[in-house]
Amino acid sequence: MVKIKIINTQRVLSPTQITLGDYVINPYRGCEFNCTYCYSQENKNIKRDGFKQTLGIKSNAPDILEKELKYKKPKRVLLGSTTECFQHQELKYKLSEKILQILNKHRIPYTILTKSHFIENYLPLIAENKENKIYFTFNFHSDDIIKLFEKNSSSVGKRLATIKEIIKSQIALRIHIGPFIPYISELDKIFELIPQNIKELDIELYHQKQGNFKALILAIKRNFDKTLAERIRKIYKNKQNYDQYVKSLRCKIRQFSKKYPYVFYYIVPDFDEFYNPRIDYARPLRNAG
Ligand code: SF4
Repeated sequence: MVKIKIINTQRVLSPTQITLGDYVINPYRGCEFNCTYCYSQENKNIKRDGFKQTLGIKSNAPDILEKELKYKKPKRVLLGSTTECFQHQELKYKLSEKILQILNKHRIPYTILTKSHFIENYLPLIAENKENKIYFTFNFHSDDIIKLFEKNSSSVGKRLATIKEIIKSQIALRIHIGPFIPYISELDKIFELIPQNIKELDIELYHQKQGNFKALILAIKRNFDKTLAERIRKIYKNKQNYDQYVKSLRCKIRQFSKKYPYVFYYIVPDFDEFYNPRIDYARPLRNAG
């Protein structure tokens, strides 16, 4: 159980380098889902409060957002870059719900990053603006793997049901296979599960500098076998190995892209850089080098 801390936030709309919006909103600080690889754990502000132990509830966020919108004019807002907007405490505090209502009222489109089936309750609200979009994470095919790496998040079955509901509600959707963890995320099994009538899908390769590599390798050693951990470690050992793997995965994805009707996107973090703001989420694989 995480400790709940009520926070009075000074700012809600933060400018971002992530190309999915010009501002981000994170209604919570920290995240109950507790994914082993979570990139947000390295964020200095969040680290200060203990990402895994404390969940900050930015209780005044809707009021501050209303005030900020008097002088900030976002073109598109990204929701959930360092937290899950639809985690369990959202059911109690409803901060994401209030924020979506405000953005809708101001006709500001948004993109939501989520892996939570709780988003289902919000689909009518999200559908109010046709420009809104959901990136829904589906990076593992089995509940055993989810339990291991995304401890408190939604099961495979619940995610599949939610994907179907999003499609039904006609909200723009991208299936996000990210982070794609070599040898753990299995594309063939994932493609067998997800509905065929989705339009786009991306595969974002895991980044070892952001994603708590030590803990990940340890979990693999304990729960799979040592050789698998070694194979993964080898990929990330140096740039040459990494580039080679990136290339082989690209070939594999190209093969899949011939078989399935979705538009494919392949997102590859730089080997050395902590975060590369040039990552272009809008360039399909068929146009990429
Ligand atoms: S759901 Fe997202 S923000 Fe939450 S722990 Fe997992 S990766 Fe991090």
